[in-house]
Amino acid sequence: MKLPFVTKEQVEEIAKTYPTPFYLYDEKAIRENARELYEAFSWNKGFKEFFAVKATPNPYLIQILKEEGCGVDCSSYTELLMAEAVGLGAGEIMFSSNETPAGEFTKAKELGAYINLDDITHIPFLQNECGVPETVCMRFNPGGIYELENGIMDNPGAAKYGCTPEQMFEAYRQLMALGVKHFGIHSFLVSNTTAEDYYPTLARTLFTLAVELKERTGAHISFINLSGGIGIPYRPEQEKVDIKKVGAAVRKVYEEVLVPAGMGDVSLFTELGRFMMGPYGALVTKAIHEKHIYKEYIGVDACAVNLMRPAMYGAYHHITVLGKEYAEKDHVYDVVGSLCENNDKFAIDRELPRIDMGDYLVIHDAGAHGFAMGYNYNGKLKSAELLLKEDGSVQMIRRAEKPKDYFATFDFGDLMKKYLS
Ligand SMILES: *Cc1c(COP(=O)(O)O)cnc(C)c1O
Repeated sequence: MKLPFVTKEQVEEIAKTYPTPFYLYDEKAIRENARELYEAFSWNKGFKEFFAVKATPNPYLIQILKEEGCGVDCSSYTELLMAEAVGLGAGEIMFSSNETPAGEFTKAKELGAYINLDDITHIPFLQNECGVPETVCMRFNPGGIYELENGIMDNPGAAKYGCTPEQMFEAYRQLMALGVKHFGIHSFLVSNTTAEDYYPTLARTLFTLAVELKERTGAHISFINLSGGIGIPYRPEQEKVDIKKVGAAVRKVYEEVLVPAGMGDVSLFTELGRFMMGPYGALVTKAIHEKHIYKEYIGVDACAVNLMRPAMYGAYHHITVLGKEYAEKDHVYDVVGSLCENNDKFAIDRELPRIDMGDYLVIHDAGAHGFAMGYNYNGKLKSAELLLKEDGSVQMIRRAEKPKDYFATFDFGDLMKKYLS
């Protein structure tokens, strides 16, 4: 059974100050999970998690992760600015961009970020723009179909990211000729997987490549980045990935492949997003309408603008009606938002307890790729983000949008002036 990290009483209290809908994050659980990750990889001296900013781009949350020893993975200029704002610098930022616009490598280099090149043609692009730094990472794409024990996981051969094996060797040679001294290898092959053999399998692929790269080019490989992709149990019947087991399995491969090749000093990096934040953020919304036509509908005050994963890919997000956690699920509802789009549904044919107007609903596992994907369709405004702190108090970490934010880019003339203050 999946229970939310807040009670009805807590939400009623919070809603007095911050009206629904709002995002709520659980500081204690974020910290505990980050510590478990570090514990699982503590056998690797240089281990570091670079939180994928795109999952939850909030500097206050990044600050919490920073306190737990994490850096960040950025892929754009504004994400780099956020890293800079929380005081992250050399060795604490990974810049894993692709199709990188001009100017962004310069900013990344200025901050001392590890630059992770998506393609071999980015070498002259980087060199022309700001010169290559001393350490460069290359993103790898093995091509074909990526298979784990439980079958086909993904299709890297059809993905736009990374270099082919031959290009990896050539890229290292070119970079060495330009004076690069230390190298990284990065690859991201499967998204949102709870298969515990993903990281160990990926590790074997990358470690084997690393040994070959070192032997054939003489390059010094200082880190290998297993990137993101570890999933979370969105459904009540799924289990959390046992990260301790994953860490131990990666260690076995490390000792089997890297250590005998004299590469026992290679640091391991991760770039997890969903795993770090997903379960520890929830979207809290209120039932404001009910509708009985060909189906039973509950209209809530949040919509796909606040969380688009269900509308975008039919993603499952568990829903708890607060105060009715243990009530019988004897109703079947579509839980819907207010967009003029028929895919604006948080749940379809969901078994839930009877919902009364004014009930608070917790939409689980929205902490990553949730608020971040928000948009402003139908002129809908984005919600506040709140932090449930370890001492039980609540801190606003982003205010709700106001009409003036929606109209902010019309600040050049008189037409919208009266709405801008
Ligand atoms: C999205 C992304 C991540 C994080 O992915 P999760 O599925 O949230 O773990 C990490 N690295 C890169 C380069 C990404 O694009």
